[in-house]
Amino acid sequence: MSETIFSKIIRKEIPADIVYEDDLALAFRDVHPQAPVHILIIPKKVIVSIASATAEDATLLGHLLLIVKKVAIQEGLENGYRVVINTGEDGGQTVFHLHLHLMGKRLMTWPPG
Ligand code: AMP
Repeated sequence: MSETIFSKIIRKEIPADIVYEDDLALAFRDVHPQAPVHILIIPKKVIVSIASATAEDATLLGHLLLIVKKVAIQEGLENGYRVVINTGEDGGQTVFHLHLHLMGKRLMTWPPG
């Protein structure tokens, strides 16, 4: 499996501002925040993107969404938030380890750029 900078964060080889961790997943603040709250939720298992997830990953994918909810409460995002999964080249993905962007504390517009 290919390694990304997120593998190093999971192994604590490089620093990250971690806001949540369990056996299966990690959540940490994005280093280039696009909103006052901008957190990445990642599985510890290397899954390149949603496009390469399999039926075997179904429980893990659901787990990641429930972490979004948990971290949103923790961050005081009761007014709402946006969850984004950039996928592949056209989707604007730059780090090829599946991650959910959780962004909040500002009004989001639609459509996104
Ligand atoms: P994407 O463009 O959807 O693949 O998102 C990758 C995200 O990872 C970007 O928002 C980057 O700012 C973020 N990022 C890259 N390296 C780090 C890092 N070392 N710590 C935290 N966030 C990072």
